[in-house]
Amino acid sequence: MRLRVYQCGVLKSRKHLFTMGRGVGVPFTVPVPFFLIEHPKGLVLYDTGNAKEVAIDKIKHWGQGVCDAYDPVMTVDDFVVEQLRRDGFTPENVTHVVLSHLHLDHAGGVGAFPNAKYIVQRAELHYAYVPDFFQKGAYIRADFAKPDLDWVLLDGDGDLRGDLFGDGTVKILATPGHTPGHQSLLVRLPVSGPWLLTGDSAYTEEIMAEDVLPGLVQSPSDAVKSIAKMRHLRDTQGYRVITGHDPEAFAKLQLSPYVYT
Ligand SMILES: [Zn+2]
Repeated sequence: MRLRVYQCGVLKSRKHLFTMGRGVGVPFTVPVPFFLIEHPKGLVLYDTGNAKEVAIDKIKHWGQGVCDAYDPVMTVDDFVVEQLRRDGFTPENVTHVVLSHLHLDHAGGVGAFPNAKYIVQRAELHYAYVPDFFQKGAYIRADFAKPDLDWVLLDGDGDLRGDLFGDGTVKILATPGHTPGHQSLLVRLPVSGPWLLTGDSAYTEEIMAEDVLPGLVQSPSDAVKSIAKMRHLRDTQGYRVITGHDPEAFAKLQLSPYVYT
């Protein structure tokens, strides 16, 4: 089993949008990551980056307001399907697409994998259709409201289907707060051991290390509980934590075609 790291361009933003009350107005450019896990029984994507349309006409696809706050910079070649093809993977071979949540920089590739199960929390799919006003801009219905998708709707950590292959190597961890149905991914690699892909439940290392809220959060108290849960896993079981949008930490990772084992 092995893991690959990908980047679908960047968002040119401001730091306080990632750490509440800190770095107000300070320019902050963050990566848009996604991950591929090659398991003997399947090919798992964790998140899918931005939609291809963002490379063509971002204001049309995301809207002026979102582009003002989180200006996406990507080319058509950064789209998930193109990047996987370069490494020899066809969309038909992807068996599972696990979505941390359905925000626009994560769900842009939904629908591009015809044989995949799309695994989200039931609470997330519901909220994506009827978000609170302050998260409306982050959900692009054209990205996720596609016909004939094979959705698997999970209900929190108690759902046994969150252990994707039943062998404990790829497991979903419910981490609500950033959004109501946010989920992180636990990956147990044969050589490097356990990895925790936080998604946006922890935007940056600062959020894992200090008591600061994420800049965009649906439920602050749920977010705090999820961060505590992830710190516990890190401290007691030695998980390597990969945060969602940390420019410095992400720069230290090696992108595909490098493979982590
Ligand atoms: Zn994000």
